[in-house]
Formats: sequence, structure tokens, C-alpha cells
Amino acid sequence: MSVNSKQYICINLDCEIHKDEIVFPKQRDCYACKHPLVEKKRELTLTEDDKEIITNYPTVIALPFYEFITNNEDSAFDKITRLKDVYEISLRYLALLVISEYFNIEIKNKDR
Ligand SMILES: [Zn+2]
Repeated sequence: MSVNSKQYICINLDCEIHKDEIVFPKQRDCYACKHPLVEKKRELTLTEDDKEIITNYPTVIALPFYEFITNNEDSAFDKITRLKDVYEISLRYLALLVISEYFNIEIKNKDR
């Protein structure tokens, strides 16, 4: 299955097609209940590292990372751009920590 192939499901809760979780490759009406099929969103499988970043990292890093791993509709270029954003924001955050540590450290040159 290619990355961009879409899957369609019946969302009618009373329908046998829905209960059997049958997916279709094309958008059409359901064979059983005649409701229009709806595109199935890709299931999100988070690794332990993903969960660690999303729950414990600062929001300025966690939010773009969450958007990077959850947004499957974007093109590959958009995906790379989101990853670049996560990397850039992480570097800026670390730079901010270093600068703040520098201004708060006891042993620094007071002549300047
Ligand atoms: Zn149906």
C-alpha cells in the first residue's frame, strides 16, 4: 500500500460493513446501507519516545512535534518543513536556556 492511498469506511453504526470494519479503496455508497463512505483517518501509532516528547517536553517543542507526527495529509515537502520547525524551535529553546544560564551565573567577568 502506498503512502497516499486513501481508505474509505462506512460510519453507519448499525451497518454490517461498519461492524466488520471493512475498508474500500474508493469513495462510493456503502454496499449494505447505501450511506456514502467516509475517508478513514490514518491511525496514530505513537512510540514511547513520541509520548515522552509530547507529554514532558516544553509546549513550544511538544506542539510542533505533535503536529509533525499527527498530520498525515500534508505532502512530503510539508512534512519536512514541519520537522525543520521542530528542529529550529528546539535549537532556539536551547539557546535561550544557555543565555539565561549565562546571565544568572555567579562567575562571569564583571568588568564588561
Ligand atoms: Zn454501511
